[in-house]
Amino acid sequence: MAMSDRLRDAFNEQITLEFSAAYAYLGIAAYFDAENLTGFASWMTEQHHEEIAHAHKFFQFMLDRDAGVRLGSIPEPKQDFSSPADALGAALNHEQKVTGAIHHLYALATEEGDYASIPLLSWFVDEQTEEEATVGRALDRVQLAGDNPAALLVLDREMAEREGHDDES
Ligand code: MG
Repeated sequence: MAMSDRLRDAFNEQITLEFSAAYAYLGIAAYFDAENLTGFASWMTEQHHEEIAHAHKFFQFMLDRDAGVRLGSIPEPKQDFSSPADALGAALNHEQKVTGAIHHLYALATEEGDYASIPLLSWFVDEQTEEEATVGRALDRVQLAGDNPAALLVLDREMAEREGHDDES
């Protein structure tokens, strides 16, 4: 079944949004590296890879559906932050924006009767719950550490332990 024009446009916007999130995380990674918080920087770099994988999931789906991929432009991401909490807050804002967009896509796919989109979108609904929880927890912990450099360095070491990226997530 052919995808409706409305749904196609929304899916194409989602590809751009995932790449925008990837780019935003790369900017945040650079901020952390400049602050010598290399554990946070590598964690954010992994997050960057995950967003690229998300974009490719949508991209491949559009190719498989022969729906007409149209890539949009990606704005310059924010790269100056006042604190680690500020940077993680920006990351959480991105995730919340992406969650909203995915819920909108799900509603649109349902409205258009495009049932072929539902399994992919269900996967993303679950994924976003996880993403918001992960980033939210990191933000909570950074807020707990506050202005205490020793606590921040302990957290930084913990963040460095995140597993390397795979293409499944
Ligand atoms: Mg994503």
